[in-house]
Amino acid sequence: MACSVEIVCVGNELLIGKTLNTNAQWLAEQITRIGGKVTRVTEVGDDVQEIASAVIEALKRKADFVITSGGLGPTFDDKTLQGISRATGRKLKLNQEALRLVRDRYKEMSVPKRLRLTKPRVKMAILPEGSSPIRNPVGTAPGVLVEFGNAKLISLPGVPKELKAIFEKSVAEKIREKSGNLAFYESSMIVRGIVESALAPLIDRVMLGNPRVYVKSHPKGGEGRTGALIELHFSSTEKNRGKAREQVIKAIIDMVRMLGKRR
Ligand code: AMP
Ligand code: MG
Repeated sequence: MACSVEIVCVGNELLIGKTLNTNAQWLAEQITRIGGKVTRVTEVGDDVQEIASAVIEALKRKADFVITSGGLGPTFDDKTLQGISRATGRKLKLNQEALRLVRDRYKEMSVPKRLRLTKPRVKMAILPEGSSPIRNPVGTAPGVLVEFGNAKLISLPGVPKELKAIFEKSVAEKIREKSGNLAFYESSMIVRGIVESALAPLIDRVMLGNPRVYVKSHPKGGEGRTGALIELHFSSTEKNRGKAREQVIKAIIDMVRMLGKRR
């Protein structure tokens, strides 16, 4: 069963090039490894309408999961949940369970009781109606799950350590389950002394003979005396890892044979 995932990264800092979008890369890698298929990554600024339209578009494309990164914090520019609220028509409301999570977090951090629930802190517990908060084991803003039709909208904080912790603890399992526990296997070989254009027909033939394997060439430079250096990346998603591995190895053997014949 295929499980499609769209990632929407929120933050002006991404659009001005201040912050490298490592969350998208990390999420894409993890989701692929557990059998999900990332079908699109979008970056938008801290703007309610931009966030809402990115989410609406992902829902129109029938993504099984829409994962947002960033914009859950206490400051004025953290607007992801406003965007989700606008996209889904679910009103923002104080969520008691989220409030408890936020309160407990500040308690654990030994913040005096009267200062625990300031207005900016309470903001992190104001969620679209019908949301389930997801405990954040390493930070203060809880993650948020909104079920919308057949889709799951999951909002994660932008701080990489927090995003990773919540994903690993509470999100990965949902994707794994939806994908029917598919497994991904990948392997690479380095080819030297052949230009990419000469490699292209060999890749076509290997993929034709191994339709479950995706072969992608990555030029690594190194022109000159030793010739071009190209990484050939082979990957497959199958019902189990053994099967995926078997397919990848067979494709690599086919490629090595074809390269041998050329020489
Ligand atoms: P936010 O949750 O939007 O307030 O983001 C908190 C911090 O996390 C930002 O100031 C960035 O340093 C970092 N951050 C946000 N989005 C990303 C991202 N997509 N990749 C890497 N770091 C990010
Ligand atoms: Mg932000």
